[in-house]
Amino acid sequence: MSHPASAPDEIESLYKSAMTQFQRAADAMGLDPAVRTILAQPKNEVVVNFPVRMEDGRYELFRGYRIQHNNILGPYKGGIRYAPQVDQDEVKALAAWMTFKTALAGLPFGGAKGGITCNPSKLSDEEQMRLTRRFTHALGSNIGPEHDIPAPDVGTNARHMVWMMDTYANSVPVGERNRARAVVTGKSLACGGSEGREKATGQGLCYLVEAWAERKGIALSKLRLAVQGFGNVGYHAALIASEMGARVVAVHDHTGAVMNSAGLDIPSLRRHVDQSRKLVGFSGGETISPESFWDVDAEILVPAAIENQLTSDRARRVRARVVFEGANGPTTPQADRILQDRGIEVIPDILANSGGVIVSFFEWLQNKNCESWDLETVDRKLRRQVLKAFESTIDAASTHKTDLRTGAYVVGLRRLERAYKERGIFP
Ligand code: GLU
Repeated sequence: MSHPASAPDEIESLYKSAMTQFQRAADAMGLDPAVRTILAQPKNEVVVNFPVRMEDGRYELFRGYRIQHNNILGPYKGGIRYAPQVDQDEVKALAAWMTFKTALAGLPFGGAKGGITCNPSKLSDEEQMRLTRRFTHALGSNIGPEHDIPAPDVGTNARHMVWMMDTYANSVPVGERNRARAVVTGKSLACGGSEGREKATGQGLCYLVEAWAERKGIALSKLRLAVQGFGNVGYHAALIASEMGARVVAVHDHTGAVMNSAGLDIPSLRRHVDQSRKLVGFSGGETISPESFWDVDAEILVPAAIENQLTSDRARRVRARVVFEGANGPTTPQADRILQDRGIEVIPDILANSGGVIVSFFEWLQNKNCESWDLETVDRKLRRQVLKAFESTIDAASTHKTDLRTGAYVVGLRRLERAYKERGIFP
């Protein structure tokens, strides 16, 4: 089956979409009006323009953002994205989602996000290093281990985090350099990272898949997944799901799509992608048209790429029973309504992908206490924390007779509201 490219939904602003979700939950729970006013806009929006020396000796000017949405529950926390479409509106939405995500997970963190408008696939390693160091320098004291703690996101990984940490550490007095390691999470193990951080988002998502299947009384061996995105989140989710005994029947990324109804062998697919830089041409499956990925017969759909991928047109065709949002904001507001009308459950991004920031919190704790936990400890604590958030989400959704996304917001918003109530709003 093949389809012409699907029509994108009309999206005015990603921030508006995020705020619509927030307002819906605020209405459902009767959120304190003052708290609603405060959360409707980020606290700080830092925009920096900075030059980077390119391989050919030219200087190019880049624009970077760090948007700090809220810190009533703890230091600002959230990733740094390198992608061509990064702009202030996108980073604002992603920052707000971090506030709701950390609050839902019960972490002592607020929400922030950063990014640089650039195409990392066109930049050499040296250029990426200079870009990252120069951006960190430009952010200056806007980040810090007790103030605002970046992490990886789309287009960045442990290497970028280590460059950020090193640049920041070199800007503080010598006596504070060890403490400064906690300025970013998602670092390499050698430089103060945590066991289990790299796979954490996919791992958290799979713990939720397991819990969801148990509630429905479906054996994992009977579950088929279709995964969009084969980056950090999509790859680990696919790998762990297949190790748990589920079948990953289709994978789609920006290079194309492949399927195998008997289940794709994820480690071989990874090797194929590492070698050929694309999904198609994989001998362990058949190439399908990217658009027909959305009609694949599978119980679980995992959009784990970027925002607004699940459009109305695609939502009408999806055959899954449940969508686990591995990416942030993968479902358009229009598609969200269609899924709801069709009775397809959505495990919302702020819950489904919260494993990453939960293990970031563990990394931050380990750095502060000069500890290093083994993988089994990290996974066990992650599982507990993510399942607790799932239970509270289900409870809130049933109390308010609403969907799981709204339920998840209600849990986070209650925590934020309580903190504001007890502290009072200054002055
Ligand atoms: N970028 C990830 C997210 O969107 C992780 C953030 C973090 O660990 O701070 O949740």
